Amino acid sequence: METRLCGRCVLPESAPDIHLDSQGVCNLCRDHEKRRPEAGASRLLESDFTKIIEKHRGRHEFDCLVMCSGGKDSTAALYYAKRRYKLNVLAFTFDHGFETEEALDNVRRAVETLDATFLTYRSTFMRDMFARLLKSGSPAVICHVCAIWYMGLTYRMAERFDVPLIIAGWTKGQMTSQPVLTKCACNLAAPEYARMGRATKDFLAGLKDDPKYKDFPGSIEEVVARAQKRHKSLVLSPHWFLPYSADEYVPVIEKELGWRQPRLSYPAKTTNCALNFISVQWALKHYGYTHYHVEMSKLIREGLLTREEALEQLRADFDPELLNRIAGPLGFRFPDRTGA
Ligand SMILES: [Zn+2]
Repeated sequence: METRLCGRCVLPESAPDIHLDSQGVCNLCRDHEKRRPEAGASRLLESDFTKIIEKHRGRHEFDCLVMCSGGKDSTAALYYAKRRYKLNVLAFTFDHGFETEEALDNVRRAVETLDATFLTYRSTFMRDMFARLLKSGSPAVICHVCAIWYMGLTYRMAERFDVPLIIAGWTKGQMTSQPVLTKCACNLAAPEYARMGRATKDFLAGLKDDPKYKDFPGSIEEVVARAQKRHKSLVLSPHWFLPYSADEYVPVIEKELGWRQPRLSYPAKTTNCALNFISVQWALKHYGYTHYHVEMSKLIREGLLTREEALEQLRADFDPELLNRIAGPLGFRFPDRTGA
């Protein structure tokens, strides 16, 4: 599939929501240009973060629940929570059966070194849904469906342990325009997510006939609405407030926590679950881009990443054998030569 990419960010032309003008620049980059003047005013400061922390510190059994994936960003978030802000932390890891041993080892080493209370939730609850998505050929985004599951789960854990703050490792590229989020990073109403968002919603609406998933939330907004009715916990990430880049905190967590970069990852230099390869392949097939293209495009617009670096990290040419090894437990096979 030959598609034209925006000359500034890494989003491809994608009707009807992303279009390039006569100079080859996309509507999102143009919109960002127009918003420029007020951008500085909404910059988050570390003092905003500490203000929120101090409001809650010491009032509950745990000050915060930290979502730990074993990746560099969430491991750094855990490190900051413990060492920089001296919070009483409940480290939390979920595993839907596709987390890698490398990632889980990173979490184990970190919680041991930091002496954090640690909770793991392992479940195959989502397996049938992932299988149904692939077999039906639905263009729904696997990572979005999964985010609905793990955010719902995370809120439930925060409620169960009465934790007021949920700390995620989301980076600046995974931030929406809201200053402090109470929902997951992908804003499905944004133009670059519009088609994906509709497909995901349609797929979830079609699940209502399945007794196993009939109560599954139809959107991340529904997850948040349900959670807020039961228990108020605020989701935020130290990466939104701190000026440090991964180049600065990765050496720190490597040295202090024994963190290791997984051998195989997409995008390059990240840590994601094995199913991420399938999700990426699926999104590229259906849309020509993924939520990583969206996140990196935001970073490029903010001047935090160059377009060349992004293109390098986003190169996807997966071995069909790898994809089929991962998809095997879902009873799904990709064609031997992939088209993306
Ligand atoms: Zn652009």
